[in-house]
Amino acid sequence: MSVSTERISQVLAGVNTGLFIGGSWRSTPNTVAVEDPSTGEVLAEVADATPADGLDALAAATEAGPAWAATDPRVRGEILRKAFDLMTARAEDFALLMTLEMGKPLAEARGEVAYGAEFLRWFSEEAVRITGTYSVAPAGGTRLLTMRQPVGPCYAVTPWNFPLAMGTRKIGPALAAGCTMLVKPANQTPLTMLAFASLLAEAGVPDGVVNVITTSQSAAVSEPIIRDPRLRKLTFTGSTGVGRALIEQSAQQVLRVSMELGGNAPFVVFGDADLDRAVNGAMLAKMRNIGEACTAANRFIVHESVAKEFGARLAERMGAMKIGRGIDDDVTVGPLIDAKAVAKVQELVADATDRGAKVLTGGNTVGDRGYFYQPTVLVDVDTQAQMFREEIFGPVAPITTFSSDDEGVTLANDTEYGLVAYLFTENLTRALTVAERLETGMVGVNQGIVSNPAAPFGGIKASGVGREGGAEGINEYLETKYVGIAL
Ligand code: NAD
Repeated sequence: MSVSTERISQVLAGVNTGLFIGGSWRSTPNTVAVEDPSTGEVLAEVADATPADGLDALAAATEAGPAWAATDPRVRGEILRKAFDLMTARAEDFALLMTLEMGKPLAEARGEVAYGAEFLRWFSEEAVRITGTYSVAPAGGTRLLTMRQPVGPCYAVTPWNFPLAMGTRKIGPALAAGCTMLVKPANQTPLTMLAFASLLAEAGVPDGVVNVITTSQSAAVSEPIIRDPRLRKLTFTGSTGVGRALIEQSAQQVLRVSMELGGNAPFVVFGDADLDRAVNGAMLAKMRNIGEACTAANRFIVHESVAKEFGARLAERMGAMKIGRGIDDDVTVGPLIDAKAVAKVQELVADATDRGAKVLTGGNTVGDRGYFYQPTVLVDVDTQAQMFREEIFGPVAPITTFSSDDEGVTLANDTEYGLVAYLFTENLTRALTVAERLETGMVGVNQGIVSNPAAPFGGIKASGVGREGGAEGINEYLETKYVGIAL
């Protein structure tokens, strides 16, 4: 084992497990257990907020709002920059915490810390670039002025698969814009966000500007917050089903919403693709985060002229991966998040093989401790198979073939989702024309990863509304007010 039990205990002991409301830590009568998915053992018990605690957190965010909005942009930016510096200095602790509660290999957890911290740096720089406009009305006389102002108190609900980055991608722009926030991380992985709350306080974020609540009753705690007129925005990352329910609840207050929801990414390999690049890209797009990413390649759509070779090479690479606890040396595939996730993958693989798919590698669970599933490649997958319709959220690569560009694009777009698509070709004209035709918010050309703090991340169709990151990211937290001035 590469990480000692002393070091694990020390990192876990450093996390405050209460509710962080108005700058104070609050304990609760009940607690929620946080498990290590590689062993099923309990790592920690965190506070279990009631609906009343949730409303207290909203009250704290509301109270802190005016002073934070009035804080100089440079000061807001410098606090975020300080948070970036602290996060970078403590990267190892955060990475270990994430590996423990989520299961991803340590090398990937380090990658998430770097990626997640970058949103703090990016938005520390954006805080001082919030600008309006001034113009003369077309008929003359009146002058038109626009000002950008913080939306107000925001509620952020985040998933378990990227415990840090899905939070910083929201908290960074919200704080830069002058908004306050209450954050509810997923029950499975609250420790990273709790540790981050302490770091933000240390960086100088004033009391009440960021509040964190953990709860076993996500729906019962969230609904009163969403229906409360003090809240001005909901920003959610998670499944499409929950996102739809939260949009409905948001209708009552006509809340601003940002929704980063599920995906069903096509990974299209054309006959002229550089297969080395395509296989490297596939490894990243499929196996990053053990396949538990909204951006994970979910459907491999490969030109019939290269499908056999692509499948064989991908199977060789995936079959050679080392499965194990994320804290152990050289492990490249950790466990899935829980038993339910394993059962879902098993069900999807059984459905595909029942419809005639063949297994090139994998296809089974591993061991009887923790929630492991083998990296798996399936060929001859029927496009009506369940796994072509739903997120697999596991290390399974299903391959089907196409013969013309039109057919490839039609297959790629044949889904209710529209988050990201990947395409591999050496022909620039084909890359651009296909990218234009793909119904997604993002396209990776000859690359298997699109996440970049400087780019607008987000989807269309059932994958959501709004963009996180890039120059667009801060707009989600700003209102435009127009002032007409008669001269
Ligand atoms: P989930 O929808 O089950 O949970 C997300 C969050 O919502 C968690 O904090 C959870 O506790 C909370 N929640 C669940 N039910 C709720 C309810 N009824 N009311 C209020 N809150 C509720 O999703 P998950 O399993 O944690 O995450 C995986 C999903 O997230 C996948 O669908 C994945 O594609 C998606 N995701 C999307 C993006 C993106 O940027 N588009 C990024 C990461 C994950």
